Amino acid sequence: MEATVCSAPVNTGFDIPARVNREGKPDGTIVRIKDFGDGGKGIVIIAGPCAVESREQLFATARSVKDSGAKIIRGGAFKPRSSPYKFQGMGEEGLRILDEMRKETGMPVVTEVMDARQIELISKNADILQVGSRNMQNFPLLKEVGMSRKPVLLKRGMMSTIEEFLLAAEYILNQGNENVILCERGIRTFEPSTRNTLDLSAVPMLKQLSHLPVIVDPSHGTGLRWMVPSMAKASIAAGADGLIMEVHYDPEQALCDGQQSLSLDEFSLLMTELKRIAAAVDRYIL
Ligand code: PEP
Ligand code: MN
Repeated sequence: MEATVCSAPVNTGFDIPARVNREGKPDGTIVRIKDFGDGGKGIVIIAGPCAVESREQLFATARSVKDSGAKIIRGGAFKPRSSPYKFQGMGEEGLRILDEMRKETGMPVVTEVMDARQIELISKNADILQVGSRNMQNFPLLKEVGMSRKPVLLKRGMMSTIEEFLLAAEYILNQGNENVILCERGIRTFEPSTRNTLDLSAVPMLKQLSHLPVIVDPSHGTGLRWMVPSMAKASIAAGADGLIMEVHYDPEQALCDGQQSLSLDEFSLLMTELKRIAAAVDRYIL
């Protein structure tokens, strides 16, 4: 069973793309990653650093978030940075560290693919391909990840409507890959006090319109470490099937997105709170 999806029709003003449409799959899609799913009653927690920075950093963070209850590790090897002068990620070396870590801990890995030419290599080193916000409408990339059989975590474009988001997912499904997880990560609005405006209304809307699992990224959604726990809890209350959060063993020293990364202790505390919120909405943390 999933969180309540009331049956009232939604006047979207657009046609819901055929393959993502919930009508074709009223019970929802379960994306199976290793031995657990996403999209059912269980809620999956994905945690890890914005970027892989070193073996020590990834292993220390991964071991700790695993102990706290995270089920999937995140970590970028190829980073889409706004400035070409900022840390661009460790690239192939980062992938090797991710692969080593997942073999040692048994934790599945999600990492970003920015270019279709990277898919083959990243697929060997990761379990889920992340298509980031900046690439949500990179149609050749969407088609290529659609041809791969790896689960895809598709992040909402920072200026994309729900219709555009669903159409982007449709590109992937249209190539035969049904293992798509939608991720709300905040959109750009006139409000400067947060990095983005986390559109939590997208969660029930996407769940209503599509059978695909929906997760939330409160880290990029707010850009503020202290606000992440509140929005993580709100996301679960709103019906999200999972969360992806940035966690760093030393946020002050992070090479990327430290200001929105939880410390290991903050993440651990949040996990205990999330369990209570999940139970309150008749769900559980996987
Ligand atoms: C990320 O997950 O680190 C990232 C760059 O996310 P987004 O594409 O949502 O900005
Ligand atoms: Mn980041």
